[in-house]
Amino acid sequence: MADYRGVMASENPVPSAEADTAPEQLTFADLGLDAAVLKALKDVGYETPSAIQAATIPVLLQGRDVVGLAQTGTGKTAAFALPVLSQMETGHKNPQALVLAPTRELALQVCEAFEKYAAHIKGVSVLPVYGGQGYGQQLSALRRGVDIVVGTPGRIMDHLDKGTLDLSELKYLVLDEADEMLKMGFAEDVETILADTPSTKQVALFSATMPAQIRRISAQYLNDPEEITVKTKTATSTNITQRYLIVSYQQKIDALTRILEVENFEGMIVFTRTKNETETVAEKLRARGYTAAAINGDVAQVQRERTVNQLKSGKLDILVATDVAARGLDVDRISHVVNYDLPIDTESYVHRIGRTGRAGRTGDAISFVTPRERRMLTAIEKATRQPLTEMSLPSVDDVNATRLTRFDDAITAALEDTAAIATFRDVVAHYVAHHDVPEADVAAALAVVAQGDTPLLMAEEPISQPRFDRDRSDRDRDRAPREGGRDGGDRGDRRSSDGRFATYRIAVGRRQRVEPRQIVGALANEGGLRRNDFGAIQIRQDFSLVELPADLSRDTLNRLTDTRISGQLIDLRLDQGGRSAKRSDRPQRRDRDRD
Ligand code: AMP
Repeated sequence: MADYRGVMASENPVPSAEADTAPEQLTFADLGLDAAVLKALKDVGYETPSAIQAATIPVLLQGRDVVGLAQTGTGKTAAFALPVLSQMETGHKNPQALVLAPTRELALQVCEAFEKYAAHIKGVSVLPVYGGQGYGQQLSALRRGVDIVVGTPGRIMDHLDKGTLDLSELKYLVLDEADEMLKMGFAEDVETILADTPSTKQVALFSATMPAQIRRISAQYLNDPEEITVKTKTATSTNITQRYLIVSYQQKIDALTRILEVENFEGMIVFTRTKNETETVAEKLRARGYTAAAINGDVAQVQRERTVNQLKSGKLDILVATDVAARGLDVDRISHVVNYDLPIDTESYVHRIGRTGRAGRTGDAISFVTPRERRMLTAIEKATRQPLTEMSLPSVDDVNATRLTRFDDAITAALEDTAAIATFRDVVAHYVAHHDVPEADVAAALAVVAQGDTPLLMAEEPISQPRFDRDRSDRDRDRAPREGGRDGGDRGDRRSSDGRFATYRIAVGRRQRVEPRQIVGALANEGGLRRNDFGAIQIRQDFSLVELPADLSRDTLNRLTDTRISGQLIDLRLDQGGRSAKRSDRPQRRDRDRD
């Protein structure tokens, strides 16, 4: 039986939300990782292990199998990649580690993470293997020999069937997002791979949920796994207004600048995920004229205290900090917390936003969420039991309205200094008497002098914000699309009407006993599609209708047309309006593309 270990927030390295004093911090070095891996982590700039990393890494380093309940955004990739790399013997012809991932995107992401963490280990090779990519590149890399393969189950099975991938020396097998792999119809492939690889291998299975099928698989194929889950125990105070803004990574600095323009803030802490980023962001803010300083775990204690005192006294308005550096910080004038990067766990979120709303004041917390991080947002809302309100990026008009109001306020404030006004009134009167210029123009000319080189009004083009649809719950969005007949129809219609989706017809249906998850699995794997690329799926007697992005490339369409499900060519084509299309109907897109 699996031995169950729940890691409560109070036991993990991240202190509980209420703790305001810095407890002993666990470091990556404490976890027993190899020196070369620790060096890479220092380069990357992570300060402390996340809860799932702290719980998983020592267990994997002991050689035990692990079942980890963790979702994206918690640092689970490093939780398995770091111990694998720490124990890796490079230079074998056949792979020692295999990571199975549900999608091509995740596979590529995991590959990138491995490469980043392996930067100081000589000669480690990592190969992504996924459907939709030509075999040539994969074959020549496999022939040369690779240490770590990261791939989607379907394509890995193809290589095993062809004899082009030899897993006889496999030491580590990771199943990443196992629940997603099953939803996408990869259960059989995953089980075959688990069964046909050496029984001595170490297995780590990660999943955001733990359905019965995953319990069965882990009981059947894993060796007395330690089950690790990170429970959250959090509470936030209600005097803090919590908002979020959807931005891409590249837009973050401009978004922050606009927020600084329009928000009425006194003192602010901007949280970033890494030490390096604190410096970069602080530097960019200073370049834009703000008084900003960075604090992180590498900044000496004396310097840190000096900076915090400057923030307290108002000499400094913005502190850019990592979680560790800002732990326990208690400064009344912090009116705003900005999560420039979302934290890796919900406890850190609660701790961060607790830096504002001190001493009975109200506070504002604004979190930047990239489209990939929507799951983390949901986790935060669940853990804090408070919904976050979406805000939109302040527009150029908003920024300019604020600038004009501030300009007016500055005039009003200056007018109150009657002695200074009396002196300058004479200077202006003298100018007007000797030049043929109206007083209003003189006032405008003085404003030009006061403004200097900085234009009063912002003229940039608006930044186009990425969006994600929060109307649909995350579970709905990430679940394999359901049959339109039952409950997918409405949603499908609504989504196709937004122009992003088009309805395609495939030549397999109920008669072939096809299920939506098989369709998603096959199309995702062969066409390199992501979960979000699927709208509603309707299974009819002899065919099925699938909503896919309207702008699929010709390459993808060709690959999809040649895909087989249950051995049958699916003959994908654009649907001609919901009634049975004749064989002579060609996919319109392909025809157009050929013209
Ligand atoms: P993952 O859950 O593996 O997708 O990781 C989510 C993000 O957190 C990635 O951008 C990682 O680079 C980052 N990350 C992982 N571990 C840490 C850590 N200990 N400290 C800071 N960031 C981390």
